[in-house]
Amino acid sequence: MFAVIGNPNAASLTYYGLHSLQHRGQEGSGISVMNDDGEINTIKGEGLLTDVFTNPAMLVDLPGAYSIGHIRYPSNGEKGYDNVQPLLMKMSDEKFAIAYNGNITNTAELRRELERQGSVFHASGDAEILVHLIRRKEGSFLERLKASLLELEGAFNYFILHDSGVYAVRDSKGIRPLCIGKLSDGGYVFASETCALGIVGATYIRDVLPGEIVYIEDGRVMSTFFTEERMHAICLMEYVYFARPDSDLEERNVHSFRKQSGIELCKETHVDADMVIGVPDSSISAANGYAEAAGLPNEMGLIKNRYVGRTFIRPTQALREQGVRMKLAPIPSVVKGKRVIVIDDSIVRGTTSRRIVQMLREAGAKEIHMRVSSPPIMYPCFYGVDTSRREDLLAHQLDTEEMRRHIKADSLAFLSREGTVRALQRSESLGPNCGVCMACFTGEYPTDILKREQ
Ligand code: AMP
Ligand code: SF4
Repeated sequence: MFAVIGNPNAASLTYYGLHSLQHRGQEGSGISVMNDDGEINTIKGEGLLTDVFTNPAMLVDLPGAYSIGHIRYPSNGEKGYDNVQPLLMKMSDEKFAIAYNGNITNTAELRRELERQGSVFHASGDAEILVHLIRRKEGSFLERLKASLLELEGAFNYFILHDSGVYAVRDSKGIRPLCIGKLSDGGYVFASETCALGIVGATYIRDVLPGEIVYIEDGRVMSTFFTEERMHAICLMEYVYFARPDSDLEERNVHSFRKQSGIELCKETHVDADMVIGVPDSSISAANGYAEAAGLPNEMGLIKNRYVGRTFIRPTQALREQGVRMKLAPIPSVVKGKRVIVIDDSIVRGTTSRRIVQMLREAGAKEIHMRVSSPPIMYPCFYGVDTSRREDLLAHQLDTEEMRRHIKADSLAFLSREGTVRALQRSESLGPNCGVCMACFTGEYPTDILKREQ
């Protein structure tokens, strides 16, 4: 998500900001801008940002200084145009554009109750729930927003573009990342990751805090909290896989964390071999760390076709397998006759590792040792990452030796939970060491509701 507050080029800045966040989702893209007359115009559609904004002139159709933008990773709700964000809600007396990242865990109950009270839902995702809750409250917009947020459980970042201003919200555990930047030529931005700041000429101010609502009043950044019960539990998978290596989340650099995970992985699981190979792109940093610690060459044994998106996000197993085949290819002259240590950041369903081992064998590798720079994922995520079915998780079904046989590697080892915690403590961090959610590795969820759902 990316938003601009108080800059006349809001639409194009949002476009560039979203462009550097494209790795976070590929199913849909959209930008809503409020013009000087308070009208909200939106352009959105299914697919990548460049599929939707096929011509830069389209941004001219979005005049105004306040904008919110979104790219969609579908973890909940149906696919299709209706769920592409920002969602627009026009009531007789109020207008909203709303964008959202995360997953509300009590959607079913809330929706049932709201429908009973007469609310009509247009889409099936979670974005709309908040608008319906706000509509049923009394008081100023901020009071209604606060009261509504208290009813939500789970992980949520919201941007709301409303007649009264722009609001950025982070849930009380800070599960998904969100930061604030200041534009050099006036105004502010909000972004899911700091990697989106530089491209628009914004400098990092700080992260939005758990439970915080940030809004702009009279050109000043204002802040309030919607709850007293707050803690830091940012998603560990953001560091492991999701975020771009040049992003700092809670002031901790993602590349630095991954490299440190590779160093810890080497210390814990090293095996004699000729070279280290990282699975591009997300495991390159961990492979750097591993190779450096092992004193082995860090080779490019696999290359990635840049024009294939993130395969995991594809909705069916057949599409995912085809995606991995299209995405990765071995370099036979590098691996032929060699004992290789392959570093990947995670195993979820096992599709990628199995296919990589097969490709490297076909390319002539003598031994293939798979090393994973995070612990086994054994529990589902209810917070917006598409690993919500426990039965899909390979490590839920099989122990490490059975997984090794399944992916057909010569050996397989994971970084321990303790090793991950050490990597967090030792990676480059400008701020205090904030707490993380590690629920998919440990089963200890940071919100209560999930204890019920497990
Ligand atoms: P799998 O092939 O199902 O075992 O998924 C693991 C691969 O997908 C690894 O190479 C990861 O880099 C990547 N990955 C891990 N978690 C996610 C996620 N939540 N969304 C998309 N890709 C992921
Ligand atoms: Fe992230 Fe895992 Fe927690 Fe989900 S359960 S928020 S993927 S760490």
